[in-house]
Amino acid sequence: MQPGIYIHIPFCISKCHYCNFYSVTSREYVPDFLESLFKEMAMYRDQFETFDTLYIGGGTPSVLPAEHLEELIQRIGNTFDLLPDSEITLEANPGDLDATYLTALRKTGINRLNIGVQSFDDAVLSLLGRRHTGTEALAAMEASRTAGFDNIGIDLIYCVPGQDMHGWMKTLDQALNFNPEHLSCYQLTLEPETPLGMIYRKGTAGLPDEEREYDFFIKTSEKLEDAGYIHYEVSNFARNGTFASRHNQKYWDHTPYLGLGPSAHSFKKNKRWWNHSSLPAYIHDIEQGKTPVEEAEVLTDDQLRLEALSLGLRTKKGINCIDFNMKYHVDLLTEKKEIIAKLKDGGLVDIQNGSLSPTRYGLAVADSLSLI
Ligand code: SF4
Repeated sequence: MQPGIYIHIPFCISKCHYCNFYSVTSREYVPDFLESLFKEMAMYRDQFETFDTLYIGGGTPSVLPAEHLEELIQRIGNTFDLLPDSEITLEANPGDLDATYLTALRKTGINRLNIGVQSFDDAVLSLLGRRHTGTEALAAMEASRTAGFDNIGIDLIYCVPGQDMHGWMKTLDQALNFNPEHLSCYQLTLEPETPLGMIYRKGTAGLPDEEREYDFFIKTSEKLEDAGYIHYEVSNFARNGTFASRHNQKYWDHTPYLGLGPSAHSFKKNKRWWNHSSLPAYIHDIEQGKTPVEEAEVLTDDQLRLEALSLGLRTKKGINCIDFNMKYHVDLLTEKKEIIAKLKDGGLVDIQNGSLSPTRYGLAVADSLSLI
């Protein structure tokens, strides 16, 4: 597989109450940011050559005018070899997607939209601090289709304080009515430093306990698989194999990726590095002719092996034990025979054609599977 490129656009109109991604709400830095981003691209020209996926995330990339996104994609094409059939994804906020903007986006080369809907329930959206309503989200989805996008992903969040199963199932029904190519269903994580995290703590009223979280996960998986979707990763569902995110796959199987922009992470061979989570620090370093890297780490073979195990067991494809043995010199099926047999008896994993893969119930507890 070819490497992928990720661009972090660090701007949002307002901050959602649960968000801990790096972004700022003022857009005064947009021109300086773009200039820095183009310079940062050039710094990696000799380290990366060819890409077959581009993911423009953030932040809210859809706050940028289509002309900026078009120029960004052209610059990538001029700096690197972006293959002609590349998957080019834009993360978009429903509040930004009107017909005029979508028509302009179609001309940029973007061929996949990932829309941050999160819910169709206005009470949930208000609690999350989203800047759109459920009706606006549905309109944005329809307008995207009308504009000609035929690969649309919808992001949804569950286990929101006060949300019951009935409300969540209704949101899933509304998403299914649209027949999206891809669905990501994330369980809300209450990061302590976010406004929601400060208000709610595990165990307080209104928050689902672990049993309830498990129930949400299983019912989501059952409902979407019954509707024909493939539950191909803990939080991700595709209408068929072609619509599984090619870009995200790279994060799960150690394919190299280059991340540009503040807070973006990169990975190549056994090295991972990440940029400053600060726009001024990012711009400053680039002005000084330095890569804006905050920190880097070199992973040992043991760390790579453990990561491959935990990432692989978060995907339906699982781990090919022959490939794993060739790469990490561990014969899982022999050396972990007893624990794997226990997991299999417990209905958490399957072994087929030499691959160890999680079942639906295994995906629900994927973090603990990696401890084998
Ligand atoms: S739009 Fe996305 S990145 Fe921006 S604040 Fe909300 S969750 Fe965070």
